[in-house]
Amino acid sequence: MATYLISDLHLDESRPDTTRAFFDFLKGPAAGAEALYILGDFFEVWIGDDDDAPLAAEVAQQLQEYAAAGTKVFLMHGNRDFLLGEAFARRCGAALLADPSLVELAGQPVLLMHGDSLCTLDQEYMAFREQARNPQWQQALLAKPLQERRQIAAQIRAVSKSMNSRKAEDIMDVTPEEVVRVMQEHQVHTLIHGHTHRPARHRLELDGEPAERIVLGDWGDLAWCIRADKDSLELIHWPTA
Ligand code: MN
Repeated sequence: MATYLISDLHLDESRPDTTRAFFDFLKGPAAGAEALYILGDFFEVWIGDDDDAPLAAEVAQQLQEYAAAGTKVFLMHGNRDFLLGEAFARRCGAALLADPSLVELAGQPVLLMHGDSLCTLDQEYMAFREQARNPQWQQALLAKPLQERRQIAAQIRAVSKSMNSRKAEDIMDVTPEEVVRVMQEHQVHTLIHGHTHRPARHRLELDGEPAERIVLGDWGDLAWCIRADKDSLELIHWPTA
């Protein structure tokens, strides 16, 4: 039985094609899988589990049916959907997964991350990340009315967009030294993450041994996943149209 990993679908009411591609994926290649790992930025924005927009309800229902058929579903936070909570995970039949998490895939220990914490050169973002992961800050935000949270989310996205347009390409990517540090800390030779929207398999050397960092792609015209079976990991993409 295979396990699938995906990230950065950025599901949004404005992109129904991506939502459809995701549902097709659940009914197609991922049907009957042992586990499905969703490694963050599943949603373009998340303002709280009490959001009454139809997209969240539709996604929860499809995932719940998928999980009920026997696949373990795991949700990791990304930098867009860090407010996604236990209540929504339960509605999906899914479990929230810490970032980073160590799992066994293809017969080896593999570290799973969203990937934003690896972009340490982006100091502006790292400061925001620390604030956004603060439970008090989150509670204060979640206590505001839904309408106000929608406005705040739109502001945060506008500011982030204008900040990112000024940043050099290498600042927006992972810091190679941080990749090595994290992999050594967790004693793995395989790291899987998303976030950067730069899907690739990067070979590296770690303590004199071959190691690999596999980056999942974001979903748009193409969809991306990693398929893990008992002894191999495969990075796959296909057109969504
Ligand atoms: Mn991200």
